Amino acid sequence: MAHYLALARKYRPATFDDMVGQEPIANALKNAVVSNRLAHAYIFAGPRGVGKTSMARILAKTLNCPNTKNATPCNTCDICRAISAGQDVDVLEIDAASHRTVDEIKPVIENIAYRPTRSPYKVYIIDEAHMLSRHAFNALLKTIEEPPPFVLFILATTEPEKLPETVRSRCQEFDFPPLRLEALLKRLSFVCKKEGFEVEAGLLRRIARYARGSMRDAISLLDQLVAYAGKSPKTEDLERLLGTPPFSLLARILCALVDGNPSALADVYGEATARVSPERLADELLFLVRDLLVLRLTSSQHLLRFFSESELRTLGDIDPRALTVLFANLLETRNRMRATAHPDLLFEVALMRAAHRGTIADLVRYIQQNPAPPKTHSSTTPPSNPTTRQPQTQTKPAASNWLALRSQILSRLEKPEHRAIIASATLLSSSDDTLVVGIHPNFASQDLALEALQRAMSAVVSRLLGRATRVKIEPDPRLRSKNASLPPALKEKVERVLRLFPGAVVEEIQDVRNGGDDASGAESADQNQASAEGP
Ligand SMILES: [Zn+2]
Repeated sequence: MAHYLALARKYRPATFDDMVGQEPIANALKNAVVSNRLAHAYIFAGPRGVGKTSMARILAKTLNCPNTKNATPCNTCDICRAISAGQDVDVLEIDAASHRTVDEIKPVIENIAYRPTRSPYKVYIIDEAHMLSRHAFNALLKTIEEPPPFVLFILATTEPEKLPETVRSRCQEFDFPPLRLEALLKRLSFVCKKEGFEVEAGLLRRIARYARGSMRDAISLLDQLVAYAGKSPKTEDLERLLGTPPFSLLARILCALVDGNPSALADVYGEATARVSPERLADELLFLVRDLLVLRLTSSQHLLRFFSESELRTLGDIDPRALTVLFANLLETRNRMRATAHPDLLFEVALMRAAHRGTIADLVRYIQQNPAPPKTHSSTTPPSNPTTRQPQTQTKPAASNWLALRSQILSRLEKPEHRAIIASATLLSSSDDTLVVGIHPNFASQDLALEALQRAMSAVVSRLLGRATRVKIEPDPRLRSKNASLPPALKEKVERVLRLFPGAVVEEIQDVRNGGDDASGAESADQNQASAEGP
C-alpha cells in the first residue's frame, strides 16, 4: 500500500506547466499571478483525481515561494516542500468532510485576521467544500466577502451545485474537466520513461481507459500493475489484476452474436462468466461495439476510447448497421440488468436472443439486398457526384447537395446514436441560415433527446458550411403517411419488430408467410422472444 501511494505522489504535478490536460486553467492562473490580478476566493470544481488539489498547492507555492520566477515555484525550498506535503503553517488544508460544523471551522476563521507566519500569503484550501454545514458556510461567508488582503481561499469540490449561491457568487470558479485519454497517456508514458517501465502502447491505453479521466487513478493503477507483474507487465497481467475478460473472449462473443451462432455463444459465454461478472462483461461488450462503430464510421484512430486499432482490425469488417442494432440491444439490456435480481439470467437470454440465427445477420442481409432509394428530394447535383464517394474530402459541400453534406455530417457527429438517426435523414428545406432535416417518425416518437441532436447538428453543419446555420429536426411527413396507412394488425407487428430493434427504420414490408424457411425462422424467433420476456 505504501508503494501504491508512492508513485501517484511522486508524480504529482509541481508547476503550472506540469498540469497535463488542465492547461487552460493553469494558464489562466499563471497569468493572474504574473499580472497581479488574483481573485481572493476560487472554486475549483470537478471530478476526483483531475488535479484540483495539485493546482491549489501549485498556486499557493507560486505565491509563497521566495524563489518563484515567471509564476514557477522552485519546489526545493522549505516552504515549497512543506506546501507539497500539505504541512505548511501558512497554507492550511481543511478537509470539509471531517470538519463540517461551525465549531470546527470557527477557530480557522478566528485566525484569519492574523498575518501569515513566514510567507506573503495565507492560503486556505478547503477540500470537499460542499460538505460544510450551513452554519459553517455562513461563518465563512463573512470572511470571503471581505478577507484581509493577504488571504486567499480555494474551495475544491466535486459537487459545486451544492455550494450556497451566496458563496459561489463571491468566488471565481474554474471547472476542471475529466482528463482526456491523450492527456493521461502522455503523463503515463512520462512516468514509464522516468521509472524505466516497459509498457506497450496498447496496454497503457487500457490503463488510461480504466482511470476514466482521473490522473491519480491512472498512475495508481500503473503502480499496482508494476507491483503485481514487474517492470514489463503484459495485457494479461492487467486483465488478471482487474478481473476483466481477455480481448479474445470478447471477440469470440461478438463474432457469435454477429454470425448468429447461439451454440458458439453459449460456450464462450460460460467461459467468460467463469472469470468476470455479467455486468462487467456487458460493459466491456458495449465498449467494444462503441469503438468498432467509431472505427467503421469515421476511420479515425484517435477517437477510439477503449481498444487499439490493431485489436479492432482483427475482427474484420462488421456491418455498422449490425453494430448499431447490437449496441442498442446491449445498452437496453445493461439498463434492465440494474433493476433485476437475476442480471446473469437476463443478460444470457438477451445475448441468446441476439445471436439467434436469423436476427442481426439476416436483418443486415435484408437491408443490403433492399437498399434504400437515394433520397435526393432537394438535391440539385446527381448522386454520382464524386464528393459523395469521398466523405473525407475537405472541400465545403453546398447545403443543396444533401447526400454529400450528410456523409460529411456523419463522419463528424460524435455520438453513434446521432449517426444512426442521421444516416437515413432527408433534407426538407433549406435557407441561408436554417436547414430543416427530416427524420423517420420512429426516431421522433422515441425519447431520444432530439434537442441534443439539433445542437450537435447545428454545430457540425455550421462548421462544414462555414457560416452559422441552425438545424431544425422534424419527422419526415412522407414517412409518417406511409406508416399510418398500414392496416392495424400489420402496424402492431411492425411496432413489435421496432421494439426488438430500437432505432431501426422500416424501409419495406414483405409478406413472407409462404416461404417455408423464413416462416419457421420467424416462429422460433417469436418463441425466443416470448421466453425472454414472459413471466
Ligand atoms: Zn520554493
